[in-house]
Formats: sequence, C-alpha cells, structure tokens
Amino acid sequence: MAAPITFPQLNKHVLEFLSKPRKMLVDGQWVDAISSKTFETYNPATGEVLARVAEGDRADIDHAVKAARKAFESGPWPDVSPSERGRLLWKLSDLLEEHLEEFAELETLDNGKPLLFSRLVDIPTAIDVFRYMAGWATKIEGNTIPISAHGAKYFAYSLREPVGVVGQIIPWNFPMIMAAWKLAPALVVGCTVVLKPAEQTPLTALRLGELILEAGFPAGVVNIVPGFGETAGAALAAHDDVDKIAFTGSTEVGKLILGAANGNLKKVSLELGGKSPNIVFADADLQTAIQGSANAIFFNQGQCCTAGSRLFVHKSIFDQVIDGVAQAAKKFTIGPGIDPATNLGPVVSREQLDRVCGYMESGLNQGARAVVGGHKLPGDGYFVEPTVLVDVKPEMKVVREEIFGPVVTAIPFSEPEEVVASANRSVYGLAAAVWTRDISKAHLIAGKLRAGTVWINCYNVFDPALPFGGYKQSGWGREMGHAALELYTETKAVCAQL
Ligand code: NDP
Repeated sequence: MAAPITFPQLNKHVLEFLSKPRKMLVDGQWVDAISSKTFETYNPATGEVLARVAEGDRADIDHAVKAARKAFESGPWPDVSPSERGRLLWKLSDLLEEHLEEFAELETLDNGKPLLFSRLVDIPTAIDVFRYMAGWATKIEGNTIPISAHGAKYFAYSLREPVGVVGQIIPWNFPMIMAAWKLAPALVVGCTVVLKPAEQTPLTALRLGELILEAGFPAGVVNIVPGFGETAGAALAAHDDVDKIAFTGSTEVGKLILGAANGNLKKVSLELGGKSPNIVFADADLQTAIQGSANAIFFNQGQCCTAGSRLFVHKSIFDQVIDGVAQAAKKFTIGPGIDPATNLGPVVSREQLDRVCGYMESGLNQGARAVVGGHKLPGDGYFVEPTVLVDVKPEMKVVREEIFGPVVTAIPFSEPEEVVASANRSVYGLAAAVWTRDISKAHLIAGKLRAGTVWINCYNVFDPALPFGGYKQSGWGREMGHAALELYTETKAVCAQL
C-alpha cells in the first residue's frame, strides 16, 4: 500500500486519488492490467511510495489499440462533427480548470516540481493547449486544386483526414503539459489515442482520463496505459495496427522508437533532447540576462528539454554574469515541491539523481570548477544543488551531453562568429537564446543558430500557437501551432473527371 501522505493540507480529492491503486483506461473502462501486475510511483521529495498503479504491458497495449481502432472506425467518434470535437476539448479544458488545484498538487507530489509552478505554469499551460486546439476543430480545410491533365476536364481537391490510431509516449518532466501537447491535436482532428505516460509520473494523466470520460469523449477514443518503456512503450511503438507514434523523451529512446516503427512504417514524430546554447553579449541588459540565464537552467530543476545548459558569455562580462547566476542559484528555496515556499524541488527519481551527480562528478574530475553547487543534498529526497561549472572544455561530457538537471556549463567567447560556431557544435538543435540590446545582431544570430526555437532577450517562452520542435537529433516534426495538426492528418487528393 501507498505510504501515508504527511501533508494534511492536501486537497481531499488528491488524498482520495492516492488512497486506491490506480487502474488503466481502456475502451472507456477503468481496468486492472491483464497480468494483474502493479508498480509504485514515488514522492521525489521523500523517496516514499506515493501510489500504486496498474502495470500495462504488451497485452494491455494490444487491448487498448483494439479499442482505439474500433472507436476510430465504427464507434460514434467518426460521426462526431468538427464543432462537437471542439466542444468536447473545450469542455475538458473547463473541467481541468475547475480541478486546477487538485491537478497541481498531484503533479507536484508525483514529479517533485514546486507547487508554485504546477499552479502557475504546468496546469494552466495544459488548459491553454486544449483550448487553443479546440479552436482548430472547425478550421481544418483542404484546397481546390486546378490541374492541367490532358484530354478532359477535372475537378480536384484535397482533404485533411485523421491519420488514424495514434500511440503517444510521454516523459516525466512536464507530465500534464506533455499529455496536453499530445492529446489535444490528435483528438481535434479526429484520431483515437493510446497514451503511455512515464513510469515515474503517471498520476495526472490517469486523473485526466477521468475528466476525459466526464467531458463525454466516446469510449475508446482515449486509452491510457501506464507501464514501463521497455514493455508497454516498446509494444506501442512496434504495434502493427498503430498508424502513428508520437514520442517525447531522450534521443536514445527516440532512435529505438524509430526502429520499432519500421515494421508497419507508421508515421513518427519525435521531440527529443537538447543542449541549448544561451548566449549573453556584452551589450545585453545584464540584470535581465543574468536572471533569465539562471531561470533558463534552473527552472524545473533543469529537467527541461530546452534547458539553457550551455551558457556562452562575452569575455568582458564573464565574471560578472557568472557571479550573478551563482548568486541567483544561492537564493533558491530548496525543498519539497508541496511546500508553497519552495521554488526549487527535487529531481524526479533516484535514477535521475544518480545520473545528474554522475555528470557533475565527471565534469569536476575532468578539470571543471563549480562556482556554486556541485553536490547532492543530504537526506532521502532527490535534491541536487543548483550548479554552475566553469573552466570547461568543448570535449567534456558535461558540455556535450544532456544532463537534465540543474547544472550549467559556462564558456567565455570573444566574437559573434566564434560563439555561433560553438553554439552549433552539438548533435542537438532544440532551442537557443540570445541576450543583446542590438536588434540587428539579435536577428542575424537567430538566423544562424541551428535550433527549432530561438529566444531573444527571454527564455522558455512557450505558447500553444508557436510551433515547437528540433533540428538535428532533437527531433522530427513540430508540435503546437497549426504545425501540430500536420502531425496527425493525412492529405488525400480527390480527382473527378467532369
Ligand atoms: P526516456 O526517453 O527513457 O523516457 C521517455 C518515455 O519513453 C517514457 O514514457 C519511457 O517509459 C518511454 N520509453 C523508455 N524506453 C522505451 C522504449 N524502448 N520504447 C518505447 N518507450 C520507451 O527518458 P528517461 O526517463 O530514461 O530519462 C533519461 C534521459 O532522457 C534524461 O536524463 C534526459 O536527458 C532525457 N529526457 C529528455 C526528455 C525531453 O523532454 N526531451 C524528457 C525525459 C527525459 P518509462 O519512463 O515508463 O520507462
């Protein structure tokens, strides 16, 4: 059984939700795993068991895919009008808003992130994404196309149709936001879905499943199967009756997904890792740039695919900026996310803690110096000190690889061409930022950076209308904005001889 929760101020719905083993959602029903197996999720702030969850594997994925196929082809879903699909998504966003506090607490307990951010960022962002996508339901159009084929007259047009049954595999760093990014565009175009949340953070997705039923989505349209990547995730990626797989997570697993999708050549979209360059020029508004650079790496304990983990600073202001970021690091109130005063929580799991500490150690062993941080914090929770590493070299692992923790490597530069070349020297290309008061320089550099998003004088600004995705090994395809609709639709050309 789950350990007692020691926060009496918790929302009563959260306590109730955690008090029972959670089942999976298949074909509109809450069911146990076919194997009857369950697994535990942990509170990263304490290391205690938080909840017990049904452990889906290949058989459950198969069951869920069959339900999604039936719902796609013969249930009420194919006849649901675009405006009704939009209404359902809007209704879901309203329900989520009604339950915002409950979702925020659940997210914080499961993932560790500060309640402050679950309340102000994670759940509100998920709500916005459902609302933004709801508006697209009635605006998905084809074209009439003049064609020049000889011998007759033709009337030709294109249709945008749902790609079919979609498998979606999401990570643990923003569980609700990731669920919304995946579900909203797929549902608005008329697909059906099997969603596999991360083993570390399945709880908000499962609670969302309850609201999906309450909103009135027909059975089988959304199926949610918690479980492990190597079993449930791999089975979903390889399933022959899945038309498309959408994945967010590590580049390493992204490559496995691609291999697994080979069998039936299902469509694949991938949002993968990053090692994003954050470039501060000498003419920047330094106060804003320093705080922005600290937030760029420390937000969400550094567990952001876009984390500004390579900080390039002009040599004339290097010491000043590094000192400022180090001061910002020291000011964090580190503690359990559920404490409203906390603004830096634990990392998600013991595995992630070990991984982040392993990277810090490797950097320090190779000659890097920690201006601040560099250690794990004592205790049972998975807490890491916010860390700034200097004296780093381009070949070090800490500079090349995604750490996914509150650890930034800081590197001085002299010339714009030099910093662009260094920034682009990465297998990743997810995001980048430039801090300068020179607007021409900002846009010229933005054009040269090989990244799917470039922020100028800001960082981690996301919007449901802004396309997001990666260059190079940071991914395939763009989520959000109308670009996301392309991930979940096929274009059909219809040609009639008149
Ligand atoms: P993974 O890439 O392993 O996890 C992401 C999702 O993929 C989870 O749902 C996971 O399942 C699932 N998965 C794992 N293996 C397979 C597989 N063989 N087939 C199908 N699905 C699979 O990330 P980790 O949790 O292992 O984190 C490791 C590193 O990945 C982090 O340190 C970070 O560098 C990077 N990462 C990047 C993210 C991003 O947003 N770009 C997000 C998360 C991690 P389950 O967790 O249930 O095993």
